[in-house]
Amino acid sequence: ETETIDCQGCGVRIQTTAKDQPGYTPVSSLQKEVVLCQRCFRLKHYNEIQDVSITDDDFLKMVSSIRDTSGLVVHIVDIFDVDGSLIHGLPRLVGEKSILLVGNKMDLLPKSVNTRKLLQWLRSQAKQAGIKVTDACLISSAKGHGIAELSEKIEQYRQGDNVYIVGTTNVGKSTFINRLIKQSTGFSEVITTSYFPGTTLGFIEIPLDDRSALIDTPGIVNKQQMAHYISGEDLKLITPNKEIKPRIYQLNDGQTLFFGGLARLDFIKGDKQSFVCYFSNQLPIHRTKLEKADDLFANHCGELLTPPTEASIDQIPPMISDTFRIKEGKYDIVFPGLGWVSILGEGATVAANRPKGVAVSIRQSFN
Ligand code: GDP
Repeated sequence: ETETIDCQGCGVRIQTTAKDQPGYTPVSSLQKEVVLCQRCFRLKHYNEIQDVSITDDDFLKMVSSIRDTSGLVVHIVDIFDVDGSLIHGLPRLVGEKSILLVGNKMDLLPKSVNTRKLLQWLRSQAKQAGIKVTDACLISSAKGHGIAELSEKIEQYRQGDNVYIVGTTNVGKSTFINRLIKQSTGFSEVITTSYFPGTTLGFIEIPLDDRSALIDTPGIVNKQQMAHYISGEDLKLITPNKEIKPRIYQLNDGQTLFFGGLARLDFIKGDKQSFVCYFSNQLPIHRTKLEKADDLFANHCGELLTPPTEASIDQIPPMISDTFRIKEGKYDIVFPGLGWVSILGEGATVAANRPKGVAVSIRQSFN
């Protein structure tokens, strides 16, 4: 005979096998009088939010449940994966609320990047994804940059109402909320979770005052994200972990740059010019002749061109290519989840190759 146990915090079915799944708790804690899942346990005892992801269905159910309530939505995106972290059609899910767009991880950007242009681009990307934003700002939840300004904006726009924090997984939502919790005093024990019957998780609420709270919604997994296609080890390599040092290549047409074996930029036609690469400092960039590129990729992806590794190579979808013709002006070719290349010449034709399913785009350069 088996017996099921539900977490007394959020109501999730308790399980003891999958650490990164909702409801996990170590076997030893099953004997306790009050059984909590690890997420609620950490929240209760350490005031720390843990990262959990849920299915699309549960996400939609939970987020839709706030449709008819009032409040402010704070949508956090990763500035290195805007395409992969914008939640398309968000207003349809959350109803007619003001949406404050927050680009996170700005500590990774070199100082040379023009943040005003970055913000403009963020807003236009949001618009394309069907999201009308009230305001936008940039922060680093890891380093604390911009948090004070964001807190002010939140106060300004919420008008005494609840604040809902939404984002896909890995944008830094937990890091952000944990920072807010640490900054505020007197929050111990007042954090509660509210349980949505039929879903795997509850919302986490951090009271702001007597009448309103900041509510963390669980992150949804976006299948478009590069992270979805590669191994955990590879992900570590491609994710920048400190300020990016731009790598500059003077290229003639007929040359190619490989970014590991995950992406490639062919310089097809144009005068000799600078290609400035903004990627994780640990991601190897390999320059070669365009005529040799296909062979090199076929024979050396997974070793010379890494990541992926030989072990993870089979997970990557086949490469597809888009051609861009730049007549004048400075443009960036953006590989979502990887980085971008600023092309700083007067006209160029390039082809961007990346795994099928990850959308490459072009934007005016921030330089
Ligand atoms: P969540 O899934 O949205 O809750 O994301 P997490 O808060 O767990 O963060 C995902 C990853 O991004 C972790 O490895 C964090 O250390 C990292 N991260 C979060 N915020 C920042 C930031 O502002 N700067 C940098 N460099 N990394 C960050």
